[in-house]
Amino acid sequence: MKYACLHTHTVFCDGHDDIETFCRVAGDRNFAALGFSAHAPIRRKTGFASDWHLEEDRLGEYMDAVRAARRRWEGKLAVFLGLEVDYVEGLVGPADRDIRELDLDYRIGSVHYLVPPAGEPFTVDGSPAEYARGLAEGFGGDEDALAAAYWGAVCAMIRAGGFDILGHIDLIKKNARPREPGARLLRLIDEAADLLGRAGIVAEVNTGGMIRYGIPEPYPGLSILRTLKARGVPVTVTADAHRAEHLGGHYETARDILLEAGYDHALIPSASGCSSMAACCFKLVQHPVR
Ligand SMILES: [Zn+2]
Ligand SMILES: [Zn+2]
Repeated sequence: MKYACLHTHTVFCDGHDDIETFCRVAGDRNFAALGFSAHAPIRRKTGFASDWHLEEDRLGEYMDAVRAARRRWEGKLAVFLGLEVDYVEGLVGPADRDIRELDLDYRIGSVHYLVPPAGEPFTVDGSPAEYARGLAEGFGGDEDALAAAYWGAVCAMIRAGGFDILGHIDLIKKNARPREPGARLLRLIDEAADLLGRAGIVAEVNTGGMIRYGIPEPYPGLSILRTLKARGVPVTVTADAHRAEHLGGHYETARDILLEAGYDHALIPSASGCSSMAACCFKLVQHPVR
């Protein structure tokens, strides 16, 4: 399997290494391509306090820095410019006009926040204490209701569109108690897969939870991956890297689970056929998983 990663966080948001260090490690590890996906700013639109998003006034600086890296690494490593954009219904999302108008190679759409009927907004992948509080105050302790709200938000984000890759589709498993999903959840998961397949949106097989939190499987696991396969959803493997050393982490597990789910190809970004490496040349091509 060729290695690449389109889900990468640097010191511009909550990552720990700079752009150049990521490029150097990706080059050393023979990556076919590397894409940067800073957490897009949300404060102005949501009012949420956050220390893990790009600051509003540094967006241009970030974009310039990735483009400069693309020029420095031309001929050695294909470097792409993206953002990971939060979806919070009615507040922020990848389909927002200001996001669509940015000159990016690609966008990842992700649901991290839930805004419950009661209580405060919270992140489903934050600390266990934050999740427990969101569950208790927002959903009266009903994990099914929380999970249904999460999957409902994922479906709403896909319907709204404006992005190329769906981030960590089953992120809630980071904190949720492991158990078999009920009929209602299975319906929502299938609906998300169906919407992705129709929209031609790529799902990532994201090893970030394995790398950073010791979760035993990628986002998503085997059963959801099988659902995605049945709905014709293409996939790309990413590390959700917050350090350069994360690049390629647990990709063998991702490969094994892809094969088990029936995927024999995954998408890798390609810049071939383009000498200038302009944003227009970003495309994802199928490569064998084996
Ligand atoms: Zn994310
Ligand atoms: Zn991320």
